[in-house]
Formats: sequence, C-alpha cells, structure tokens
Amino acid sequence: MFETLTKAPGDKILALMGEYAADTRSSKVDLGVGVYKDEQGVTPVMSSVRKAEERILANEKTKTYLGIAGNKGFGAAVLDLVLGNSGVNRSRIRIAQAPGGTGSLWILMQLINRARPGAAVYVSDPTWANHNPIAINSGLKVATYPYFDAATRAVKFDAMLAALDRLTTEDVVLLHGCCHNPTGANLTHEQWDKVAQSLVRTGALPFIDLAYLGFGDGIEADAYGTRKILSAVPEALVAFSGSKNFGLYRERIGAAILLARSPDEADVTNSQLLNIIRGAYSQPPDHGAEIIRTILEDASLRAEWEAELAQMRNRMIALREKLASAIRERSNSTDFDFVAEHRGMFSLLGLTPEAVEHLKAENGVYMTSDSRINVAGIPEERVGDLADAFLAAAR
Ligand code: PMP
Repeated sequence: MFETLTKAPGDKILALMGEYAADTRSSKVDLGVGVYKDEQGVTPVMSSVRKAEERILANEKTKTYLGIAGNKGFGAAVLDLVLGNSGVNRSRIRIAQAPGGTGSLWILMQLINRARPGAAVYVSDPTWANHNPIAINSGLKVATYPYFDAATRAVKFDAMLAALDRLTTEDVVLLHGCCHNPTGANLTHEQWDKVAQSLVRTGALPFIDLAYLGFGDGIEADAYGTRKILSAVPEALVAFSGSKNFGLYRERIGAAILLARSPDEADVTNSQLLNIIRGAYSQPPDHGAEIIRTILEDASLRAEWEAELAQMRNRMIALREKLASAIRERSNSTDFDFVAEHRGMFSLLGLTPEAVEHLKAENGVYMTSDSRINVAGIPEERVGDLADAFLAAAR
C-alpha cells in the first residue's frame, strides 16, 4: 500500500537545526529555532514548574482518565488568566484543554469546518508556517490580509484594516494575540480597538492565536487585544498555548476557547468541540495542565512564575535594545531601530534569502530563510559581532 506515497516535504526548521549541529565553528550562533533560551543558551525548566511537579508527584492519587475537556481546574485558571477583569460574559464561553497551541488550533479549525465547510481563514502576510497546513488539513481555505511592511518593518495597519473591512460573516480572521511570529511587529492598543470595531461591523469570525501571552509587554498588556475582541463580538475562538510562557514545550499543553452568541449556543458548539476531540485522541494528557493549574491556583507559586516570566521578557527586551543600539552606533542610522520596537521572541530582519545564506556560510549565524531571528538566542557578548554581520548582510 505504501508504494502509493511520495516523500512529504521536510520541515525547514528541523533541517536548519541539523545544519547548525553539524557546523564545527565555535563562533556559530543559533537564531533559528523557536524556543526561549537563557544566558547559557539553555531552555530551562522554570523553578515554579519544578516546584509544582514536586507537589504533583507527592500528592497524585490516580492516573485515571481526565475526561474529554481535560483538567477542569486548568481550564478555569486559564480562562481567568486570559480574560482577567475584562468583564467578558463567561456564560457564553467554553474551554477545552488541548495538546499545545497547535492542538488547540487544530481542534478549532476542525470546528470551523463543521460550522462552515471550506470557509476561508484569513491569515496575516506573513504568518507562522504551521497555520496554513493546519487549516488545509482541516478542509478550510487560506487567504491572507496585508500585515508586515517590509520597508518600515512595522504593521501596515491601514492596508490591514481595509482588508478586514471587506470580509463577511462567512470569513474567519486569524490574529496573533501578541508577539507576532515571525515578524515581531504588533498592533497597538488603539489598533486593536479598530480591529474589534471592524469585526463588529463585518461579522467575520475572529480566531486569536495566543501562543506568547506574557512574552511581549506583560500578561495584562499582551491580553489586551484578546480581551477587547471577546468583549466586543458575538462569536470568537482563541487557541492558547502554555509552551512558551510556562516553558512546557514538550508537555504539549494548550487550550481551545470558544465564545458563542448565547449560553445555549455555547453548549451546542462545545458538544461539537468535544466530539472532535473524542474522535481524534479521546482525551488529553494531564501533566502539563496539572502543572499550570497548580501554579495559577497557588499565590506563592504564581508570584514566582510571574517573576520568572518577567525575567525572560525583560531579558529579550534588553537584548533587542542592545542589538539596535550597537547597529545604530556602527551605522549612524536608525534603520534597525525596529528591533527594539518589536516584541516577543522574534524579529523579521527583512534580509534577502541570499543574505541569510551568506550570514550562515560566512559568519555561522543561523536564522530561518525569511530572515527571522530568535532574539533569545543572541549571546550578549556577541551583540557587536552580530551588529557588524547584519549591517554587512543588509548592504
Ligand atoms: N502559534 C504560534 C504563532 C506559534 O509560534 C507557536 C509555536 N511555535 C504555536 C502557535 C504553537 O505552539 P505549541 O503547539 O508548541 O504550543
């Protein structure tokens, strides 16, 4: 039977990681892979997570099934985290635990396809490389809206809003809740307000990918757009990830959130969501969810987690400022100041694929071919070298 298959395309980022591992130069720098790294270049287990795991190990009484929607305490705690004091009507909201942000996106795309088979999902141009395959694999169509201005490396907001204004009740708009991947360019709070107004006008369904809550300007600031939209529109979807902000990448923990027009419609829609999960993997695993529940429900663990998250965030912001100012000093121009304006783990430098290749071959600096850098991968003592290399590559 398998003779009918041809080789599927390889994953570009995994290929890049392989090339990096095989590079014998001690001066090499990995700005490619999309995980947070500390000063030592390590993706650490957070101390709050470690403590929560110790408690879980000491107190766990059973390994019996969790249920289709997963860990209930986790769901309630994540809703509190995402919605805060925004006053969003909770009776119209339902949440189901899912395997990572990716699993959440997948379940929600399946749900959209049940509600509107073959609907168009509008994604930002550019967007995270996995949005397109998840949508296509769910039977949906993918279209784009303008987002990144390659000249200013900021959001092309007027063009974006004009495109959103043309959508209809048949369409879905995928928005990055904060810390846009791959560009690092984000909406201001005023721009989120305008997006919310546009969605109310057109009736298009907002679908928010919230994979980096707390990685940009803080939990409250990063949740602004999501809260604004959920307060304004009749229906919405949110895919939450705990991979980055809790450092739980391999535990595969996330949540699919839905907002419906009424509590009754929320129940009906939720029954479809649970039916999708049941037919896919039956129930989610508990470990990552129980870690997050334990941290969020305990005042001292939560304070420790928030401090660790702030430390990661502030480290990335400081690296951004260092790189931007090193480039400014060397070039006497503000052309790279966007690096300090961007937020989250990534910035799209706007270099050509040839320049990206050159940086890899000549300088041992690795990034994805679209010229996205992972800011957390910058070794502080190499900021000057990187500034020189980026300036040479941009010429
Ligand atoms: N959305 C975006 C934009 C992302 O960058 C990521 C992680 N790379 C995810 C979703 C999903 O992450 P995970 O499945 O690991 O939680």
